[in-house]
Amino acid sequence: MNDAHVHEVAIVGAGFGGLGMAIRLKEEGIDDFVLLERGDDVGGTWWANSYPGAQCDVPSNLYSFSFAPNPNWTRAYPLRDEIQAYLRACAERYGVVPHMRLGCELLGATWVAGEQRWELETSQGPIAARVLVAAPGLLSEPCEPALPGLERFEGNAFHTARWDHGDDLAGKRVAVIGTGASAVQVVPAIQPRVGRLTLFQRTPPWVAPHMDREVTPRMREAYRRLPALQQLSRAFIYSLVELLLAPGMTRDRRYLKPAEWIVKLKLRREVPDPNLRRRLTPSIQLGCKRLVFSNAWYPALQAPNVELVSSGIRELREHSIVDGDGVEHEIDTLILATGFTPAELPIAERIHGRDGRSLAQVWDGSPQAYLGTTVTGFPNLLFLYGPNLNLGHTSIVYMLESQLAYATDALRTMRLRGAAEFEVRPEVQAAYNEEIQERLAGTVWNSGCSSWYIDRNGRNSIMWPGYTFEYRRRTRRFDTPAYRLRPATTLRTSNGASRSHPPAHAR
Ligand code: NAP
Repeated sequence: MNDAHVHEVAIVGAGFGGLGMAIRLKEEGIDDFVLLERGDDVGGTWWANSYPGAQCDVPSNLYSFSFAPNPNWTRAYPLRDEIQAYLRACAERYGVVPHMRLGCELLGATWVAGEQRWELETSQGPIAARVLVAAPGLLSEPCEPALPGLERFEGNAFHTARWDHGDDLAGKRVAVIGTGASAVQVVPAIQPRVGRLTLFQRTPPWVAPHMDREVTPRMREAYRRLPALQQLSRAFIYSLVELLLAPGMTRDRRYLKPAEWIVKLKLRREVPDPNLRRRLTPSIQLGCKRLVFSNAWYPALQAPNVELVSSGIRELREHSIVDGDGVEHEIDTLILATGFTPAELPIAERIHGRDGRSLAQVWDGSPQAYLGTTVTGFPNLLFLYGPNLNLGHTSIVYMLESQLAYATDALRTMRLRGAAEFEVRPEVQAAYNEEIQERLAGTVWNSGCSSWYIDRNGRNSIMWPGYTFEYRRRTRRFDTPAYRLRPATTLRTSNGASRSHPPAHAR
């Protein structure tokens, strides 16, 4: 296959979304595609986030592709290494590996209207494709805040999503900034081996009990012999979290009261010192920021080598951080557990649509799409884990599989109708976003706290405001009336003959 070849599909990103798309293409009999991944292996966020203690807080039996159950999970909540190994095994099992280009970063993508195709500039050279599937992941771009004096700091500094495994931290004075889901896992994992750990907390999180436990070898054997057992467990977990948590988050916050009692009781039991307890008590509505799960967080914070600082950060110096009270904390290593920038993904600056503007220019800080997947002005672009698809209660893999069905049906529709192009109608995208924003207004995520769900314009561009089965229903079929389908254009070649550009899979 040479560089001049126009692929049917180019997928960017080999996490759950991009890999799932590749598997679906294979199942559809579409073999002419490439899967680009800037990392050295598949896994997406689970490849990038290799910090100590990394584990998903969605139960293992739900956090996998429905078509590829994994009887080998060793914990009720999957460990990062096992998720990455699972995705690698899926790539091998479904024949995706020959399509993968690892260490290949998308530098730019431009829609060439006359040719009805995307032209990609990558770190490994140019690629052309009829359809572009962008699967960059939502939590892939580390947010490194502009802390005063950070450039002066001479110790080792890194973000949780870029963990420096060369720094063993043993006996060192370590500072962690942030108290989100990443910090809640990192701090207990490193606390026993560091000399001193100073935790800079801006907002205390709500911390729920973690139901993690070992999946015994006997249970794993049972899942292997009786796959229906694991499917049953999956269905049970899915229904339970959907019914217990989604109504409180999306409809009526009173349904979250029982959860609030549980987390308050946990805090009272695990933190006997009333002064420390007060500093660890959140003032925000439970669920407004992502609820975190840990049985090790409060014990770690009370270990003799840990200090909690909640007065803020005044400045960094060569070997220290000065807190908001002016107290100087000497440190050797600085760990930024400061999260991600999901509404400002760099890939949005690199994808240029029909009028030459990038997604970032069109979105202006507030990503919008139709069904979180297609964008007016960007023909033949399918965005996975796009705007307003994130969840606060269950597995994103469920949403991604809904998108994969929709995306696959889009390709099928193009083939059946002889179309070379699809583009969502602007009025359809506008009406959809109006509906989503109206519904989000009453949700817990819009209840007034600052979080990564709210973009720089104050709009919630991240969360899905309903049950996940509603999204599944709405994406079951590619809804052709919402789109402009265009046939292949006829071009004149240099020798004067006419030729057309049908999509490769329509030939
Ligand atoms: P996060 O939830 O956005 O937390 C970032 C933390 O850094 C917050 O405590 C934030 O404080 C603090 N922070 C940011 N800028 C700061 C500054 N300039 N000064 C002081 N503090 C600052 O990020 P995350 O913990 O990486 O988690 C992101 C998401 O990834 C999670 O919500 C979750 O969806 C996912 N995740 C999941 C798991 C899991 O499944 N177990 C694990 C890790 C991550 P404020 O709250 O005051 O802004």
